Amino acid sequence: MSRVWLSSPHMGEKEKEFVAQAFDSNWVAPLGPNVDAFENQLVDYVGIKGAVSLCSGTAAIHLALLSLGIQDTDIVLCQSFTFAATAFPINYVHAEPVFIDSESYTWNMDPKLLEKAIMDLMTTGKKPAAIIVVHLYGMPADMDEIMRIANHYNIPVIEDAAEALGSSNKNKQCGSFGSVGILSFNGNKIITTSGGGALLSDDENIISKVRHLSAQAKEPAPYYLHKDIGYNYRMSNICAGIGRGQMEVLPYRISKRREIHERYREELELIDGISFLSEPENFFSNRWLTTVLFDKSVHGEGKNELLRLHLEKLNIESRALWKPLHQQPVFKNCKSYLNGVSDRLYAEGLCLPSGSNMTVETQNIVIKEIKNFLN
Ligand SMILES: *Cc1c(COP(=O)(O)O)cnc(C)c1O
Repeated sequence: MSRVWLSSPHMGEKEKEFVAQAFDSNWVAPLGPNVDAFENQLVDYVGIKGAVSLCSGTAAIHLALLSLGIQDTDIVLCQSFTFAATAFPINYVHAEPVFIDSESYTWNMDPKLLEKAIMDLMTTGKKPAAIIVVHLYGMPADMDEIMRIANHYNIPVIEDAAEALGSSNKNKQCGSFGSVGILSFNGNKIITTSGGGALLSDDENIISKVRHLSAQAKEPAPYYLHKDIGYNYRMSNICAGIGRGQMEVLPYRISKRREIHERYREELELIDGISFLSEPENFFSNRWLTTVLFDKSVHGEGKNELLRLHLEKLNIESRALWKPLHQQPVFKNCKSYLNGVSDRLYAEGLCLPSGSNMTVETQNIVIKEIKNFLN
């Protein structure tokens, strides 16, 4: 059997056509009609005023922080349960990350701990300058509560929706709640441009500032004039051509991932000590990756890793959940507000193969092997 991937690129029909147009017109770089069209698709789909396509999701977070004026004396509250790329850009701007643990109904930033952290830091005279919340594995965070708290204390929110394009909360799309939202089109995400990202905002000043900074901060002058430090972060017209095609198939990719999730659930949920994350009422997840938990009190410690090794022997890729950032050596000196939730999720969880190009037959094999292993 050829390797079963966790989540691999899944091209549609039109990507090659848009890329060919770029070749035929020799508009390979920079920017160009595919970039404009792709940004318009994002704006329409997410329901937001502006989108800037960039070379990665990480670059988008970096520019999000810069556009909000975050700098070296600032504290940024960041979800601990996430990929490190959520937090790295806090260090790029020399600000201080403070990590916030998750709640157990969406696995994302716990609003209660968030408010506790804000109040606690304010008593020491250090009001946080921004909040980075993540919609992990496609499940929207509790944005009602998080935005209520952020608005109450007047702190801007950056939404890391790298894994959550197409997810929504009360029919409002992830990436459209905060001051700034970011997306990733890395190869393993729900759609890909072979590598890329985007920054979303309703604030036209933020959008124009980010466009400016992402293209070497060139001032409108007939010679090279710079008043700001710039970055070379734009997306190429080739990558955006792939993105245009991918946007046309996004709804199918979401329904396929959701079907895959439902199959795993139907087959495995009744086994003692196994659980999946449900959508709370009014939450819609794109189900980017299906994750499963093995209750330690039933399965003992490390069942997730044993299953991963078992599947790996059969050439099936599965992965540990994100190791919480408060556990990462690189962030060991950072402050954090913890409640044990992300530590438990990390200790008990496993991401199962979830790619939208996985066939029913392949998923049957994966399910059969998981059942074999558990027996
Ligand atoms: C993928 C990812 C990123 C980074 O996006 P890149 O395009 O790979 O730079 C950031 N945050 C989360 C949660 C991600 O999953």
